[in-house]
Amino acid sequence: MECVFCRIIAGELPSRKVYEDEGFVAFHDIRPKAPVHVLVVPKEHIAKLSDYPDTEEGERKLGALFRTANRVARVLGLEGYKVQVHVGEKGGQEVFHVHVHVMGSPS
Ligand code: AMP
Repeated sequence: MECVFCRIIAGELPSRKVYEDEGFVAFHDIRPKAPVHVLVVPKEHIAKLSDYPDTEEGERKLGALFRTANRVARVLGLEGYKVQVHVGEKGGQEVFHVHVHVMGSPS
C-alpha cells in the first residue's frame, strides 16, 4: 500500500488521532500551520475532491466529508475555524487521498 493516509487508516503508520467513525478518521497534521490543524480523511481511497462523481452519490459523499469536518471541529472545541481543501497538483495537493484541513485555535 503506497498511500500514506491509507496506511494511517490501516494502523500501519502512527498518527495523533482525534476522531474516528465508520467512514472517516481525523488526525493532527504533522506540519501544523495553526495552533490546531487536523486532517479529516474518508476511509475510502479517493485521490482528490474533483474525483467525486457529479451524481447524487457524489453529493452524499461530499456532504458527509464536510459534515464530519464540522463534527471534528466541535469535538476539538473550535468555535471558528478555517476549512481548506487542495485539489490536484496545481491546487497545492501533496497527498493524493482526499482530505479536508480544519485549522483554528481552541477558545
Ligand atoms: P495537501 O495534500 O497539500 O492538502 O497537504 C497534505 C498534508 O498532509 C500536509 O499538510 C502534510 O503536513 C500532511 N501530512 C503528510 N503526511 C502526514 C502524516 N503522516 N501524518 C499527518 N499529516 C501528514
